[in-house]
Amino acid sequence: MDIPRIFNITESAHRIHNPFTPENLATLGAALRIAPGTSVLDLGSGSGEMLCTWAHEHGIVGTGVDMSQLFTEQAIFRAEELGVADRVKFIHGDAADYVSDEKVGIAACIGATWIGGGVAGTIELLKRSLLDGGTILIGEPFWRQMPPTEDVARKCHAHSISDYLLLPELLASIGHLGYDVVEMVLADQNGWDRYEAAKWLTMRRWLEANPDDEMAKEVRSQLTSEPERYSAHTREYQGWGVFALMLR
Ligand code: SAH
Repeated sequence: MDIPRIFNITESAHRIHNPFTPENLATLGAALRIAPGTSVLDLGSGSGEMLCTWAHEHGIVGTGVDMSQLFTEQAIFRAEELGVADRVKFIHGDAADYVSDEKVGIAACIGATWIGGGVAGTIELLKRSLLDGGTILIGEPFWRQMPPTEDVARKCHAHSISDYLLLPELLASIGHLGYDVVEMVLADQNGWDRYEAAKWLTMRRWLEANPDDEMAKEVRSQLTSEPERYSAHTREYQGWGVFALMLR
């Protein structure tokens, strides 16, 4: 079981697999005023940077579930590197139905809400693992400005304009699900560059090391087209943020 190999290639050097910078993650950790010992579940935990740094900075304990074997191995390595391997554990698997045995204070899905079939479904899934009064974290894109055409939305790698909302609409839609939005930290274009532009050097180096790989043609094509596509579309039209929610 694994995610499509292209992501394991293009994001192999990423610690954070979304437009958040290390500073954004630290800001969010501080903003949530987390008590030491708080338990955190992270569905789609990637390379584990949120759980590992929050274990290090705030004394959380946590579990991450991720379908990428490579990212899960990197998460386990990172926990050892930060000296928190006794506080966080990482499971390689599909998180689509994952509910923790013991309920947690914070249940998160950061940039992977397809896991629960969208924002509403993912909130429902996370709620099943959450203590009463706990906090849900959702990382999700929104439109910084409305794409003028469906073609522009597709060039942002959306299926259609209706995939995402403007920020006020996204916040209102969470309210309509019966949750208070109690905090948010938003990525900016610099954070998007760290996520997207970091893939280009990774692709270039991978191509030099793997010229005969069956994926080489696809990676070459992406490296050629991505800088222009990204800067004209995603960078201009897409926002991204993490939203902290508590049931009303
Ligand atoms: N939250 C992490 C990773 C976000 S990228 C971070 O912020 O860095 C999306 C992640 O979802 C990837 O790590 C990918 O491997 C994982 N993923 C995709 N489908 C999944 C599934 N069905 N179950 C668990 N993880 C999944």
